[in-house]
Parts: sequence; structure tokens; C-alpha cells
Amino acid sequence: MTELIEKIKREGQRLPGGILKVDSFLNHQVDMGLMKRIGESFAEFFSPMKPDKVLTIESSGIAPAGMTALCLKVPLVVMKKQNSAISDAERFGVNVRSFTKGLDYELTISKKYLAKDERVVFVDDFLAMGEAALGVHDIVTQAEAELLGIGIVIEKSFQPGRGKLDALNIPVYSLARISHMSETALEFIE
Ligand code: 5GP
Repeated sequence: MTELIEKIKREGQRLPGGILKVDSFLNHQVDMGLMKRIGESFAEFFSPMKPDKVLTIESSGIAPAGMTALCLKVPLVVMKKQNSAISDAERFGVNVRSFTKGLDYELTISKKYLAKDERVVFVDDFLAMGEAALGVHDIVTQAEAELLGIGIVIEKSFQPGRGKLDALNIPVYSLARISHMSETALEFIE
């Protein structure tokens, strides 16, 4: 997606450890016009699969996944990274390692919002090691639902996540794919 790639080139900050900071338009201040066009692009890809729901993970996935759900006219379900007093006791869960925090967290979803045989797609902001997406796949499998496809706003193709997801044999659609990132260079797969 040319507009997204140009935005990353202009505003992305490359941090040590292969982390890209895009908080000026994706996950702190949010460019909702861009999110709308991202949602339209994902919806065009996923629409023929006829998903019942869009899943994402709090909080950075909510904007692009929400616009995708709006375009597809289906509910958005936000999976939780933290439990609280109001969390449903009846939930699916899996431990996931956070790439940016270097810690494990429990990814959960209430059993009310993911039912057997439901057809879902997963949309997230970044793909790095693939742990979040594999966790979502695990949860969807626990629920005996079906993961039809995965939409990623920014894929860091130089990290192992893409390879792990390809092994699942589920379509992965990434809007920007970074092939190489260093202090001096930022390259994309066309
Ligand atoms: P993975 O599970 O694929 O290793 O990482 C995916 C999650 O880590 C995404 O949901 C995203 O929130 C976060 N993440 C991974 N890499 C980056 C990055 O370079 N920049 C930012 N801002 N978040 C990242």
C-alpha cells in the first residue's frame, strides 16, 4: 500500500532491536483517514471469505481492525492482554511472549464472543516473531472456530513471524513488508 509505505518512510523511527516506532499515525496519535483506507484494503481481501467477525489484540490493533470490521459490516472482537475484575471467568486463553516488552502475557477472549464454527479473520498492527498471531490461532483452535486469514499492517519480513504463519497454510495479507531495516536503511518488498 503505497500511501502507508510513504508514511512509514517519512515518520517511522527505527529503534534498536529491530523495533519500528510509528506512534505518530498508528498507535498513539492515529491517522483515521489512513486507518479507513487500511480497513477498505483488508475488507476487499477478506470479503470473499465471508468472515463472521474480525479479531484483534488490544490496543494497537483496534484502529485498523475496527475499520476493517466496519467495512465488512461484522463485529470487532478485541482480545485482552490483561484480566480485571470484570473479565468473564469463562474464557479461552494462551500465553504469548511480547516482542516489544520481552515478557509473557495471557491473551484471552470471553467464550461469549468466539463460538464453535465461527469464521474469523485476525488483524494486527505488526508482525515480528509471529507469537501474537500464533496465540490467536491457538485460541481459535480451542474454540473450534475457523481462522480464515490474517491481516497485518506492517510486516517486518526480516524477522521470523512470516515464515511461522506461512507454515499454518492460512492466507497472510500484509500492507507494508519491510525487508531490511537498520539505522541507515529502510527497504520494502514491492
Ligand atoms: P509478534 O508477536 O509478531 O512478535 O509481535 C506482534 C506484536 O508486537 C504486535 O501486536 C505489536 O503490537 C508488537 N510489535 C512487534 N514489532 C513491533 C514494532 O517494530 N513496533 C511496534 N510499535 N510494535 C511492534
